[in-house]
Amino acid sequence: MNLSSKKILNNVFGYPEFRGQQQAIIEAALQGRDSLVIMPTGGGKSLCYQIPAMLREGTGLVISPLIALMQDQVAALHELGIEAEFLNSSQSLDERRDVMARLRQGKLQLLYVAPERLATEQARSMLRDIPISLIAIDEAHCVSQWGHDFRHDYLTLGELGAMFPGVPRMAVTATATDRTRKEIVARLELNEPDFFIAPFDRPNIGYAVQAKSEPKRQLLTFLQAHRGAAGIVYCLSRKKTESIAAWLREQGFDALPYHAGLAPEVRRENQRRFLAEDGLVIVATIAFGMGIDKPDVRFVVHLDLPKSMESYYQETGRAGRDGDPAEAWMVYGLQDVVRLRQMLGDSDAGEDYKRYEGYKLDALLGWCEGTGCRRRPLLEYFGDSLVEDCGNCDGCLAPASTWDGTEAARKLLSAVYRSGQRFGAAHLVDVLLGKATDKVRQHQHDQLSVFGIGQDLPASTWRSVARQLIVAGHLHSDAERYGALVLTETSRGVLRGETPLRFREDPKGPVAVTRRPAKERVVAEEDLELWDALRACRQSFANEHNVPAYVIFHDKTLHEMLAFRPQTAAELLDISGVGQTKLDRYGDGFLSVLRG
Ligand code: ADP
Ligand code: ZN
Repeated sequence: MNLSSKKILNNVFGYPEFRGQQQAIIEAALQGRDSLVIMPTGGGKSLCYQIPAMLREGTGLVISPLIALMQDQVAALHELGIEAEFLNSSQSLDERRDVMARLRQGKLQLLYVAPERLATEQARSMLRDIPISLIAIDEAHCVSQWGHDFRHDYLTLGELGAMFPGVPRMAVTATATDRTRKEIVARLELNEPDFFIAPFDRPNIGYAVQAKSEPKRQLLTFLQAHRGAAGIVYCLSRKKTESIAAWLREQGFDALPYHAGLAPEVRRENQRRFLAEDGLVIVATIAFGMGIDKPDVRFVVHLDLPKSMESYYQETGRAGRDGDPAEAWMVYGLQDVVRLRQMLGDSDAGEDYKRYEGYKLDALLGWCEGTGCRRRPLLEYFGDSLVEDCGNCDGCLAPASTWDGTEAARKLLSAVYRSGQRFGAAHLVDVLLGKATDKVRQHQHDQLSVFGIGQDLPASTWRSVARQLIVAGHLHSDAERYGALVLTETSRGVLRGETPLRFREDPKGPVAVTRRPAKERVVAEEDLELWDALRACRQSFANEHNVPAYVIFHDKTLHEMLAFRPQTAAELLDISGVGQTKLDRYGDGFLSVLRG
């Protein structure tokens, strides 16, 4: 058994070794057991169901929530020479008939279906008549009513166990807190499943978080270090994605917007270009992401705070799936928190849900304001741990210094108290700095004893003090009153000077991004010509087969070719990412480039 799954890995996929728990997961499916597989994005989940589906008798059913995702996976499988198809609403009746005919003839190794299609009696009766090797439920967290990806059709998937007795089911996801895990098992009615929970760490991603001061300038500095690389810039609002994308184009970047309000054909085209082209920056709302399998995304930027650690980790997880160095960089300010709280308050979700989401936002804010290694608390949040600091985050590479903020905290809390606990951070900072703005005069805050007592510190430091007091629980930001800061039970001790406080110092200058140039793959000057020729060769196969370049070969594979210079078919087969089918299809093309 082991031997043959290893053989498929080597010969079909062209990879030398299984990663992490892949082999054990495949083994469980081969033995007919149900399983729950939790692996971070880019961990290599698809192989886990594709390989046993190919080894077991019958067709493997893959339930996937997004049409775009199915199409990409099926196109990539075709390049590997695997008989895979999908059934969804994007197809004509004829196309669907053709797929069903091949399915009945037992010619398909894998069939991708959308959950709503599977809910139809027609699809069910057709599938009952053919042997099914395995059922994989991708993005299984969509069954959870607590998550933001909840899909009603997923609820019907629990019936599959009874419909296909003896067929192993594999629920697969990248996001699952303990609570979601239990929900997945219960709602999908998995039968005593094996749990495979991969370490959540993505060591190749460097994390950095900064206070938002001049977001555009900060972004530009960041992007200048990544010219020519593909990346995603997340924003909270649709309007902002468009204005930032337009502005980046003025700055000479290939940038496109993406959000749910764009015309479907524009959205499709922008996504297609992002996948197909090298080095495009997509500026997007969170509508962009699920199903983006592009392996060479080099950075994910957050210009606004995401709504939870879960969202943050899932969104940043889209960087560096190929295992090469990648960066997750975020700027955020208190205004973001206020906006997110308001959005939550305005939504018509239940109170329980709102409270739960509120906690999740607090956890993220606390993480942003933390000192020290970023990766450790991030992993701890997901129930994982690290023995040592990671050495690949801003906390490790540029540790924040701290300062005694006891006195500053007292001043800010007094300003909150004296102005009646009705104002947000921006106004309070004006008061502390002694700025006689219209609002200050209107409320006669220039008459307060605290007016102008904070001129020893700049506005940015005062904003940082406010954020850190919120995180520490000495201040509360009231979303129902537009972020008005109010005192808490512990404020009194701080006001009296009984609670010594240390604050982190926000890094100065626009960016201090984590970079590990030593690990970055750079092509040596003398190799550039060959490198460009290899890329051109890849692009021409990609055009011919109408797939993105990375479906032909990942950058990693080209880098190996560059390093080892294979001259024969056998040598080429030794390169990671080159399997038999790809060798047959592209071998001659690449060998003639390599032979020069
Ligand atoms: P996920 O679905 O978990 O986000 P994928 O299944 O898309 O991840 O895999 C991520 C990338 O890793 C893919 O490009 C895949 O080809 C590659 N990969 C998966 N398993 C291996 C392996 N054993 N060796 C090398 N590369 C692998
Ligand atoms: Zn670290």
